[in-house]
Amino acid sequence: MKAYVINHNPASKEIHRRDHLTDNCQIREIKDKEETDDYNKVYRLLKPRGSYNGCYYCYRNQHTD
Ligand SMILES: [Zn+2]
Repeated sequence: MKAYVINHNPASKEIHRRDHLTDNCQIREIKDKEETDDYNKVYRLLKPRGSYNGCYYCYRNQHTD
């Protein structure tokens, strides 16, 4: 199991943390999914450097809108 689950769907572009997943994350429903332990990659994807948002439920300190 990797630490981060990235939803690459252009309508979502959201990053989940496996240690904090909730039922609301619904990661089984994610079709364009990437799992990684590479925090540097996650860091680059997250706003404001990238265009990804932290999940409201499991990565709230990186959730910006
Ligand atoms: Zn989540």
